[in-house]
Amino acid sequence: MTDGNGNTDGIFEDAIRRLDLAARYSKIDPEALERLKVPRAVLEVGIPVRMDDGSEKVFIGYRVRYNDTRGPAKGGIRFHPSVSVSEMKALAMWMTLKTAVVDIPFGGGKGGVIVDPKALSRLELERLSRGYMRAIAHVVGPDTDIPAPDVYTNAMIMGWMYDEYSRISRTREPAVITGKPIPLGGSLGREDATGRGVYYVIKEIERQREWKPSEITVAVQGFGNAGQHAVNLLFQDGYKIVAVSDSKGGIYRSEGFHIPSLMEVKNESRKLEAVYCHESVIELVDAERITNEELLELDVDILIPAAFENQITVENAGRIRARVIVEAANGPITTDADEILNNSGRETVVVPDILANAGGVTVSYFEWVQNRSGYYWTEQMVHERLHEIMTREYLAIYDRAAESGLDLRTAAYGQALDRVGDAIEATGTRQFFAGEES
Ligand code: NAD
Repeated sequence: MTDGNGNTDGIFEDAIRRLDLAARYSKIDPEALERLKVPRAVLEVGIPVRMDDGSEKVFIGYRVRYNDTRGPAKGGIRFHPSVSVSEMKALAMWMTLKTAVVDIPFGGGKGGVIVDPKALSRLELERLSRGYMRAIAHVVGPDTDIPAPDVYTNAMIMGWMYDEYSRISRTREPAVITGKPIPLGGSLGREDATGRGVYYVIKEIERQREWKPSEITVAVQGFGNAGQHAVNLLFQDGYKIVAVSDSKGGIYRSEGFHIPSLMEVKNESRKLEAVYCHESVIELVDAERITNEELLELDVDILIPAAFENQITVENAGRIRARVIVEAANGPITTDADEILNNSGRETVVVPDILANAGGVTVSYFEWVQNRSGYYWTEQMVHERLHEIMTREYLAIYDRAAESGLDLRTAAYGQALDRVGDAIEATGTRQFFAGEES
């Protein structure tokens, strides 16, 4: 199948291959596994948008409802030129596994639009966001499929989409979408939830390995929502963040960066600069310019890929030197690269995306619960409950891996497949039906 970007099923096929490999370490019934290889529904839409110069442009968008056996589908919306149906299906399948890893009552979904949002004016972006929601409104809803932010979408875009859905449905149902602005029913603690989940996992590794934060070096690829908050929390604890990058490249400094200063400049000017800000004075600090490829190959204790899929591949896997890789991004390591890392003899530990970045969907679940009950939690409650879930599931996966001699990804897939499998099998398996007949 090809899509609006001319792509074939590449990344989705890789995702299925990984699913098959991991299923050997799960008790999932073969029939249930087959069901997980095909999405429930894939919607492709054309979104006509009136541009500021008076012309009309038609954008292509998707929404995939991958699986909803454990509850309504849940997954973000991405605005990016490289969006493809294959990518959407892979991301939606991973969401199905992720919601199972953290044991929240959701399935998996994903959506996106092929667009470079940086090339749109704010008004064009609003029209596109509302147009996308109009095009998918009949397939989303608080009990069917619940979108959220992903790459190059944010709380304000979720707010526009929520508002558009409300106009169409003539109701006010904030639970239709999560990651909303706080005054529109967003949850405290959602903005930094993905990075905070990554941080909680690293804190558990710190405890297990008796790390001293000031001796631990960290490199982060991608300085957006997931990456910024993860390294900012680590920075507050004294970790040394030596390398940071965005779509234009990276910066390296062996003494480490002052992350709040980098965030201030990046979020105001969109530029990633090696800076130190104090009392509204911004000073440039010495740093080396590096490429995104060089960042991935740095000799650091922790590498946090927080940008895109397919960053560590067969081409560069042999050159990766980080001791621990925590996948804040979805799918940054290909299946073949995983094998190289696992067999390199260097004991690189990879904390997989479906566990490491599950903080975002977990707090999205909290937002949905608050919206439905109409009772809102304090930020401290959100942090405590997120901490409890991330720590519990990390330790469960760690133990499963240790007991069976598996890598953490295979153990996480095993745990997720057991849970999704239980739900599918609860409606009957071949054994049950064949047994009844005989
Ligand atoms: P974002 O749009 O906030 O940030 C993306 C960052 O990546 C930006 O800083 C951008 O400059 C940078 N980037 C883009 N192309 C790059 C490249 N080629 N090399 C290096 N950096 C590049 O997006 P986000 O929400 O932080 O998402 C990042 C990753 O985290 C994605 O894989 C996403 O699916 C995943 N994720 C996000 C959430 C969430 O709640 N936002 C939850 C789970 C997983």
